[in-house]
Amino acid sequence: MSDEKMKLFTVGPAQMYQHTVDVRSRVVPYFRTPEFSELMLENVRLMKELVDAEESAEVMFLTASGSGAMEATVMNCFDEQDKLLVISGGTFGERFEKICEIHSIPFQALKLGPDETLTGEHFEKYEDQGFTGLLVNLHETYTGQLYDINLIHAFCERNHLYLVVDAISTFLCDEYHMKKYHIDATIVSSQKGLCLAPGLSMVVLSERMIRERVMNNHVKSLYFDFKDYLSNIKRGQTPFTPAVGVCFELNDMLKYIEKQGVDNRIREVKERCDYFRNKIAGLPIHLPSYPLSNAISPIRFEKDIAMEFFQYLKDEKHIMVNPVGGELGKCSIRVAHIGDLKLADYDILLAEIKHFFGM
Ligand SMILES: *Cc1c(COP(=O)(O)O)cnc(C)c1O
Repeated sequence: MSDEKMKLFTVGPAQMYQHTVDVRSRVVPYFRTPEFSELMLENVRLMKELVDAEESAEVMFLTASGSGAMEATVMNCFDEQDKLLVISGGTFGERFEKICEIHSIPFQALKLGPDETLTGEHFEKYEDQGFTGLLVNLHETYTGQLYDINLIHAFCERNHLYLVVDAISTFLCDEYHMKKYHIDATIVSSQKGLCLAPGLSMVVLSERMIRERVMNNHVKSLYFDFKDYLSNIKRGQTPFTPAVGVCFELNDMLKYIEKQGVDNRIREVKERCDYFRNKIAGLPIHLPSYPLSNAISPIRFEKDIAMEFFQYLKDEKHIMVNPVGGELGKCSIRVAHIGDLKLADYDILLAEIKHFFGM
């Protein structure tokens, strides 16, 4: 059920840009061609630029949603001999835990409560405990907390860990620097900050992760063996049929952002975010106190009316906000600031919030 009038304040799929819709409307071509290879090599170059990776980094294009890329990354970079620390402050952190369990990779979870800020103290008991890698969803989209990359980076440096970052909902929303923080794997997905159709995920790997881990790992998977992706991408190809249409959308979007400048893109998201957050002051809603990403505002109501409000917006007003699963979902919804949204769109949403509260 597609609703052309529906306005998406959701984090993914997000409100698509018209230039993406135009690319989507074209016939999907055959892909084992020099022309498609060239497009993919341009995607590699631009992806590396946007995550601020070393020249020696490499990009994997997986036809999978973000969770597939999370699982593939863990499978290819670690094994039963490892000991991982998982920052687990919501459902996406729990997903990393589950992946480790399924693949018999030893791990400990640094658990955070729904209102708990990640601080340096949390790391103290994990120092010098023989960890080999750290997994983090830098923006835990469930709660909206943006973890402090400086803390995580410093812990990984002191303890000589590989750092794997699920950047799916922070990429293009907040600053991101792979080089500066020695990040060994960055996971990105098409439907979040890039505002494309779902189906394509990118994993950017550091040279040391490729050389020391991926090339020496025996992955029990046909589809998700990164060695195949690494050898194919050198010539701009993937081992299996990629989401060809989304690769075209990606190329269009990456070139658009390159022209705009990545800092300006992030500034645009932040501007919508700040505008909304400033305007909700005085309403019977509040934001949690931990650091937040610019991607979403996880608003909390004083009563358990989140689902009622969500239904009202969707059915009566053609406005889609992001519901929250689990316990938090009773009193919380998330409003995204990515996508092709204007400040005036937020005025409409704010007016509806006021109307709902009889203000
Ligand atoms: C959206 C998201 C994912 C991927 O979820 P899929 O449903 O598999 O696309 C992974 N991690 C984070 C932090 C996300 O926000």
